[in-house]
Amino acid sequence: MDEKELHHRQKITEQFGDQHNWPGDRCREGDKRQSPIDIKTTDVVKDFNSLFIKYGNLKFVGYNKVLLSAINNGLTIQFTTDGDESIHPTITGGPLKYNYRLEQMHFHWISEHSLNGIKFPMEIHFVHVQSDLSVDEALMKRDGLAIIAVFCEVQADLDDYENTPVDEIIEHLPNLTSTGDRMSGVLLDISKLLSPKNNNYFTYAGSLTSPECNEVVIWIIYQYPIRISDTQYRQFSKISAGRHNFRSQQRLSQHVVFTPPSNHVNKPHLVMFFENVVNLVADFFRNVTT
Ligand SMILES: [Zn+2]
Repeated sequence: MDEKELHHRQKITEQFGDQHNWPGDRCREGDKRQSPIDIKTTDVVKDFNSLFIKYGNLKFVGYNKVLLSAINNGLTIQFTTDGDESIHPTITGGPLKYNYRLEQMHFHWISEHSLNGIKFPMEIHFVHVQSDLSVDEALMKRDGLAIIAVFCEVQADLDDYENTPVDEIIEHLPNLTSTGDRMSGVLLDISKLLSPKNNNYFTYAGSLTSPECNEVVIWIIYQYPIRISDTQYRQFSKISAGRHNFRSQQRLSQHVVFTPPSNHVNKPHLVMFFENVVNLVADFFRNVTT
């Protein structure tokens, strides 16, 4: 990656710290479609009239063997796609009119979005750029980026030898525990993280959740979390000294959240997942400080 490209890519690298001092007017709640938000399932619009979800089912190409490099940037672990852009995985369909290529993926703990007021222990973001645009161009276009968000739930009784979708990623974490640690030539099967039940999602037009909070993102948020074990979750507490790395939730303005008409949004089922999350998260941060 040459220096110019690196500079461009850093424009969509997560930055945290004091959110009141973030650069850019958009980050100061001045705009209309800021992220993240709480998704109230009772307010979600089933898109029978294809107002927002106009392009059929989501279509994923090339996610089962992805070449990436990884870095611990002091705030999160970020995996960035390597090699020629033409071979990067792509997504289209659903709310996406164009093809979008995978640019990078990273982790937030605890989650940025929430469902019915309740957060998950972790949220993974898969950041995609409209395929025929550079990152710079995409950051100026109202649908320049597409980010898929996948929640993780921690299942305390999950056996450590049971396979989980994040196994391949966790394998690399011991090499990425200190700020600045990096590795290249990482091959991952990301398709395992992107559930095949792809009509179970929420989608809305929002923003980046880090400076400069550009309102250029089509969010696709999976309704059902993937499972990770307690041990796996604790691995992340060693990164970034356990500091939170999520943006606070934003006031609702022009946000309208849609879901495919075939999705059965089942609220009681959702709430069931979260009974122990508060304890888990408290435990997580306790572990960091001891
Ligand atoms: Zn993110």
